[in-house]
Amino acid sequence: MLLFETVREMGHEQVIFCHGKNPDIKAIIAIHDRTLGPAMGATRLFPYVSEEAALKDALRLSRGMTYKAACANIPAGGGKAVIIAHPEQKTPELFRAYGRFIEGLNGRFITGQDVNLTPEDVRSIRKETKYVVGVSEKSGGPAPVTALGVFLGIKAAVESHWESQELKGLKVAIQGLGNVGKNLCHHLHEHGMKLYVTDVDTAKTEEVKQLFGATVVSPKEIYALDVDIFAPCALGGMLNSETIPLLKAGIIAGAANNQLGDEQIHSQMLTQKGITYCPDYVINAGGLINVYNEMIGYNEEKAFQQVHNIYDTLLAIFDIAKQQKITTNDASKQLAEDRIMNAKKSKIPELAA
Ligand code: NAD
Repeated sequence: MLLFETVREMGHEQVIFCHGKNPDIKAIIAIHDRTLGPAMGATRLFPYVSEEAALKDALRLSRGMTYKAACANIPAGGGKAVIIAHPEQKTPELFRAYGRFIEGLNGRFITGQDVNLTPEDVRSIRKETKYVVGVSEKSGGPAPVTALGVFLGIKAAVESHWESQELKGLKVAIQGLGNVGKNLCHHLHEHGMKLYVTDVDTAKTEEVKQLFGATVVSPKEIYALDVDIFAPCALGGMLNSETIPLLKAGIIAGAANNQLGDEQIHSQMLTQKGITYCPDYVINAGGLINVYNEMIGYNEEKAFQQVHNIYDTLLAIFDIAKQQKITTNDASKQLAEDRIMNAKKSKIPELAA
């Protein structure tokens, strides 16, 4: 990998390689863009197959955070950190050592909990730095807010795709019934939508069947169901060259991060199939909105008001995509980049000339 060329191409400001011998730690912190505010991005711990894979993940996810914050109108920039380790190697000392690196950045990067980190791990990081979010108990965690954002995104997509505000009777396939998926089912059921659900954990499918009368299908069956909306709420990369040809849904609107296997190829494939795709980082911004509000002093009303903006933002993105005949993925990038450029212009008047 041509390091500086890649970083320049993706527009990153700074990439920090953190290492230590005792405890043994290897971590990468990627700061993409701080035009709108300090770089925010959770920390992921993963046994990456290579250091290059870890770096790619950090670069891609941090850029996504810049777009997510810009589209959500949150005064934050994009960052992401990855710790290269197996979950079995986790110790409080490792997280404290990592926390000291974060502290050294003096607020340029603010982090939280992502894959393979527990609230306990985040509390260990917190012992060394105040630049950690998502540890407050005040908001009850980000999932309910994220689920509300996804539900509002579905409303916007229905309005744009079918020019209708009628949700009752629409069929929705929900993949993944974790913290977000289950909360989403609640909103959809409340609005008279028919639920088709799957999860690798059968206790979760059974619970949702009992609570909302959902039809349970196997993880393989979920893609090809004859439904109106497909809501990926499990893992990333679920929309790819194998699964997209199976889809019958008109709308894709779910919480999972990095839903598209390849952003360009698969967003094009969805557009060619006439599917309205809600860009993941726009529709799932509720989590970021929630932690940001925790950071500035949690006010539930304010947080929920900001989540409602997801509806208007998606409508704007669908309009841009239709008018310019581009994918919704490109339209959301354009919206984010315009907001960042406008902020740059107001800071550096020469750019406005
Ligand atoms: P979670 O871990 O609570 O739930 C994920 C669920 O998906 C689990 O129940 C798991 O069993 C299931 N699952 C895993 N593989 C599956 C498969 N192949 N088929 C069907 N089900 C499968 O996570 P969550 O907090 O509900 O988040 C869901 C997704 O949304 C994740 O991708 C997450 O990164 C993203 N996200 C979450 C938030 C949030 O606020 N929690 C915010 C933004 C994005």
